[in-house]
Amino acid sequence: MNVRLFKPSVGEEEILNIKDAFDRSWIGLGPKVNAFEAEWEKFTGCKMAIGVNSATAALHLALAAFQFPAGKKVLVPSLTFAATATAVLYNRLEPVFVDSDPETLGMDLDDLDRKYDSDCVAVMPVHYAGHPVPMERLMPWARARGLKVIEDCAHTAGAVYQGKVLGTWGDIGCFSFEEKKLMTTGDGGMMVTNEPELFKDVKAMRWVGIDKDNWKTAQEYILANHNAMHWFYEINVLGYKYNMNDLAASIGLAQLKKLPDMNARRSQIIRRYMDGLQEVEGVQPLLPFEPENYCYQMFGIRVDDRDELMIHLKSRGIATGCHYTPLTVQPLFRPWGDNCPYVEAEHNRFVTLPLHADLSDEEVDYVLEGIKAFHVQRV
Ligand SMILES: *Cc1c(COP(=O)(O)O)cnc(C)c1O
Repeated sequence: MNVRLFKPSVGEEEILNIKDAFDRSWIGLGPKVNAFEAEWEKFTGCKMAIGVNSATAALHLALAAFQFPAGKKVLVPSLTFAATATAVLYNRLEPVFVDSDPETLGMDLDDLDRKYDSDCVAVMPVHYAGHPVPMERLMPWARARGLKVIEDCAHTAGAVYQGKVLGTWGDIGCFSFEEKKLMTTGDGGMMVTNEPELFKDVKAMRWVGIDKDNWKTAQEYILANHNAMHWFYEINVLGYKYNMNDLAASIGLAQLKKLPDMNARRSQIIRRYMDGLQEVEGVQPLLPFEPENYCYQMFGIRVDDRDELMIHLKSRGIATGCHYTPLTVQPLFRPWGDNCPYVEAEHNRFVTLPLHADLSDEEVDYVLEGIKAFHVQRV
């Protein structure tokens, strides 16, 4: 048996939507992107959503929207994907790395408070694996210090925490539709906010500085020469080529319809893993998963003999991973790092196990048997 770690769940519905875009010969930035944005606004209950070509782009533009002066500091977790922190560097800002809470592995709010100084302008909590950062504590802490809050929601999609959808607690939320995430468009991302004013330039910033929906300062010129002005555009802001296209949005519209079922299936799988692991000594779940309450992009465990277990599972055709090597031990980030001792040591015990919506109960049981066999052999 070969068990994949992650797998996109795509099929006929996605193909039919793509065919629709092909039939109209419109596959760039167009009506499907608008439709997907409108659906995402409904789904998250946010006031405005903007589609981009990755969450990395979303995180870059989210920070750029605030026009922070170069050299200011942004608080980010050490335990995250590189993009959370590269977004800080793209904006000529300085990352300040925060250690993980030993239980949930999200940002440790005590370490956050210790790392804060008056040069900090923003904080970027990551809902690690999909488990919520305690936003009811983080938000008042950030507001009291005048910090902007950008939620990295790459591991969650639609989960409600204390009555509010994750991604709508902070100023801006950034979602990922990369192929390993809860739903996919191949590559893609979405930015959400409840303050549309914050996004006034973001549509231009995703399209090399051109805002085709919203000609602003050119109004007078347009009125005077109305008939000849269909070609006119004006560049007011520094933009990037970060737009989502209609092919990606076509896939996204189909995926969004399936998302509740896919999330429910992921929750079932996590429950099955948790039940199955209860009796296995020396194996702890990665974090206090609550699959009945939240949606999770990853499942994992903590074990002492991590490398041996990974090799053992690999020999049985089971793919595993480690999410993540903390950024503070990565060469690129070392100038700002080596200051998150808990997660820098603890990540050596992390094993990510297969989790995706098409994983069968038999496959989950096969993974569980593999883990049990390893531990019997050791004892
Ligand atoms: C995947 C991921 C991203 C980046 O998403 P892309 O859409 O691949 O750019 C950002 N943050 C976290 C935590 C991620 O897991």
